[in-house]
Amino acid sequence: VPGQRVRGPVVGVAPDLVGQPEPLDAAVAALAPVAEPGLVDLAVDELLQGQRALGNKLRGSKDYLQLVKSDSERLHEELNKVRLLSLTDEFTGLPNRRAFMRRLDDEIGRSQRYATPLVLVMIDLDGFKAVNDTRGHAAGDEVLRCYANDVLSVFRHHDMVARYGGEEFSVLLPNTDSADAMSAMRKVQGRVASILCEYEGQKLTLPTFSAGLTLYLPGESTAALIERADRALYAAKRRGRNRVEVDFAVPEKTVAPNGAEDG
Ligand code: GH3
Ligand code: MG
Ligand code: MG
Repeated sequence: VPGQRVRGPVVGVAPDLVGQPEPLDAAVAALAPVAEPGLVDLAVDELLQGQRALGNKLRGSKDYLQLVKSDSERLHEELNKVRLLSLTDEFTGLPNRRAFMRRLDDEIGRSQRYATPLVLVMIDLDGFKAVNDTRGHAAGDEVLRCYANDVLSVFRHHDMVARYGGEEFSVLLPNTDSADAMSAMRKVQGRVASILCEYEGQKLTLPTFSAGLTLYLPGESTAALIERADRALYAAKRRGRNRVEVDFAVPEKTVAPNGAEDG
């Protein structure tokens, strides 16, 4: 019957489609003059079923997209967490050696590009084994955390302090010359001497440290720079500990062939 609704209110249509201007009316109107009333009913039924299925499918794909989206967000979060973990020493909360090596490469690049000074300091606690032996390993752990969080925190925020290994720390001071780095190290020494580390109600004096300090030489490899800082650190140990030795960055061509040992 042209212009007239063939069916009553539609029941069970996908909710997103309810309340919209009846989209089938036009189709029904077009069908009506050419088809028998029974056939129109059949056609409308099929159309309605198709519409319902489509509605469900659309809703399903919306849910699916939402799932994919939240999955990928979760994955992204997890990746960030893992990345952070892989660069952090969980024990002290400091960047770990891997993070340090990355930053070192970046800073070497920057130092080369902009011809700015870059200092590397390697630090090793003195007689740390004795702390473990006399106070216990857990007290030793706490001493390491105190060093990380209360002593080495004196550096500026654009410097990088990392836990390089067991009781070794490394510090990178971008845009800093050796004299300024040396005065920062004096501050660190002062701090070690003036604070106590709390551990289970006791106040522990902190062990001293030895350090090797060196200035990056333009063109030098990362490994060579670290080796010079290490050498200076061992010179500090040999010379009695509780001191900072500087490896004066002598260009390689002026160094004796067998690398004149300091000490
Ligand atoms: P030196 O002045 O020559 O550096 O003497 P040292 O005793 O500090 O050096 P040594 O290399 O003999 O011992 C380092 C000790 O540090 C031994 C190791 O068990 C301890 N250590 C390394 N990592 C940790 C840690 O995470 N926690 C604790 N408690 N001890 C650690
Ligand atoms: Mg050591
Ligand atoms: Mg040590």
